[in-house]
Amino acid sequence: MSDVKIYDKPKLSNSPLGYEGPGFFATSLDKAVGMARKNSIWPLPFATSCCGIEFMATMASHYDLGRFGSERLSFSPRQADLLMVMGTIAKKMGPILRQVYEQMAEPKWVLSMGACASSGGIFDTYSVLQGIDRIIPVDVYVPGCPPRPEQVIDGLLQIQKLVENESLRRRDSEEYKALQAKYGLE
Ligand code: SF4
Repeated sequence: MSDVKIYDKPKLSNSPLGYEGPGFFATSLDKAVGMARKNSIWPLPFATSCCGIEFMATMASHYDLGRFGSERLSFSPRQADLLMVMGTIAKKMGPILRQVYEQMAEPKWVLSMGACASSGGIFDTYSVLQGIDRIIPVDVYVPGCPPRPEQVIDGLLQIQKLVENESLRRRDSEEYKALQAKYGLE
């Protein structure tokens, strides 16, 4: 008997909450845009060490981030909306990471993968940044050293939830501006 698994056919994304009747469906613009964004996130992998290798496994056919609409990685910040930071970030690299973040267009989200990116990990030394949230805001943290691909996928699903439910006005809100100001970002 073959080991090849036959997977289910691709499923359509659930439609957002709304009102429907014969021949019509009505919902809010926020929800429609949220659904589209959620299923077409373009990640920028900022990988510096071993967590990056684990991310490669997450992208490969067994786990396949393409199932969540995120198979299109972007190595240009201007064409990405999810910054995935994975690996040890040396203090010298901090300004580069920040520049990449600043070059991304709004709306943008940040996922910190692994202990090193989230807290410096085992490298409690003078040369390693003790967490990327010291220089840029982070939306989702994925713990582990390294996290398994299932955890990375779970992190992406958490990002999808944020993306789906985010108001179109959030980026203009005083709260968001205050968050950016806290990091010295315009
Ligand atoms: S968290 Fe662990 S696996 Fe990930 S970059 Fe740091 S040392 Fe490597």
